Amino acid sequence: MSWEFSTDPEFQTQLDWMDEFVRDEIEPLDLLFGHQTFHPLDDALRSIVNPLKDQVRDRGLWACHLGPELGGQGYGQVKLSLMNEILGRSQWASQIFGTQAPDTGNAEIIAHYGTEAQKERYLIPLLGGELFSSYSMTEPQGGSDPSLFETTAQRDGNEWVINGWKFFSSNARTSSFLIVMALTDTETDVYHGMSMFLVPTDTAGITFERHIGLMGEPRGEGMHALIHYDNVRVPLDGLLGGEGQAFAIAQTRLGGGRVHHAMRTVGMAQRALDMMCERAISRKTRDGTLAGKQSVQDAVADSYIELKQFRLFVLYVAWCIDQSHDARAVRKDIAAIKVLTPQVLHNIVQRSMQIHGALGVSNEMPLGGLWVAAAVMGLVDGPTEVHRTTVARQVLKAYQPVEGLWPSQHLPARLEAAREKFAAYLEHEVGNL
Ligand SMILES: Cc1cc2nc3c(=O)[nH]c(=O)nc-3n(C[C@H](O)[C@H](O)[C@H](O)COP(=O)(O)OP(=O)(O)OC[C@H]3O[C@@H](n4cnc5c(N)ncnc54)[C@H](O)[C@@H]3O)c2cc1C
Repeated sequence: MSWEFSTDPEFQTQLDWMDEFVRDEIEPLDLLFGHQTFHPLDDALRSIVNPLKDQVRDRGLWACHLGPELGGQGYGQVKLSLMNEILGRSQWASQIFGTQAPDTGNAEIIAHYGTEAQKERYLIPLLGGELFSSYSMTEPQGGSDPSLFETTAQRDGNEWVINGWKFFSSNARTSSFLIVMALTDTETDVYHGMSMFLVPTDTAGITFERHIGLMGEPRGEGMHALIHYDNVRVPLDGLLGGEGQAFAIAQTRLGGGRVHHAMRTVGMAQRALDMMCERAISRKTRDGTLAGKQSVQDAVADSYIELKQFRLFVLYVAWCIDQSHDARAVRKDIAAIKVLTPQVLHNIVQRSMQIHGALGVSNEMPLGGLWVAAAVMGLVDGPTEVHRTTVARQVLKAYQPVEGLWPSQHLPARLEAAREKFAAYLEHEVGNL
């Protein structure tokens, strides 16, 4: 019997330290410099941020998504889950712990598929935590359906020449390099005809057409770029992995990334629930507090139950990845938690906002940001509907169609089979009646 839900005491000490460190040292940064996350550090901010990173390194908690060969602890996904629940509460925390998306996923694929020279040029500085990267896949005319992608990379002598448009490339404007997906073989389908390229962001021919922000953010200063690649020349050694391998590589990246989003979302949802509970027991009504009202109790109970289920599911998926060391082997359940992630966060944040009344929808509480985060979670790394389809397809694979007209659980046939099985006994019993 090996079911186990406890955290080993030594690691719990680390989590307790993280909990305090994030609350006391990092959350104040969110309040003052939240808009500067994912921007290269200026000297003033570096003098604050670097000592915090040093403390994380000293505790052996830097870049814990990585194996020891790349400077991480090789803790595995369950421990990372518990850590990400804490980091998910804060904008700056992932960066100060060296685990921020999309750089984590980008680092993983370079580590996995990159040449030694590519690792030297891109991976080592990325892991150092000083520069940023961007993943440039979605196009203006199609995100969910890659067969609509049109950006091409054509071979010209010793170079690849990239042409096309990319949409919502996060952090591109502050990145040092972009990972671009482009069609290198238009004769075959996109799943075998697309390749991935490592492209320095300052390469000639790259134009940021717009810096798109999320709702509520000022126009033109957002972090999600619409990019025009116009005859962008990349040397042959800019190809990541082999020609036509982009989708295989993307799956490596996106599978793990989706789980990391879910882990951080547990932390965000817990934060919204904490706010809800504190408000419920604090806000007075004529006959007590909000916590005495049944509808408020429903909101608290439903939120607690949904979060508990979600958290256990995320930890289970993390455990499965630790067992198989392959996110693709857990595809069905990764897709399932990807469907749950926006749903659970949205439900809990929405209830928390409602219970806070006007304050809940104001800019004096952090709930608006969490509410947008829930909507974002339903789109990043593929929309909910697509993941729901994956879950259904994978679930259905385990079943066989029944021969004939009636379902295998049809009671008349099962009753007949049961009678046959116990025919001798039934005959004896009946005979003795
Ligand atoms: C905050 C944020 C950051 C992002 N960062 C990046 C990034 O760094 N790099 C990058 O390349 N992309 C990024 N994206 C883009 C993201 O991957 C896409 O938004 C996503 O894949 C959906 O594509 P789309 O927006 O074009 O929506 P569409 O493909 O137009 O889909 C719109 C809607 O149509 C419905 N739909 C689509 N397909 C199906 C289907 N098969 N079945 C049922 N319904 C369907 C869904 O409701 C879906 O939400 C980011 C997006 C957000 C919101």
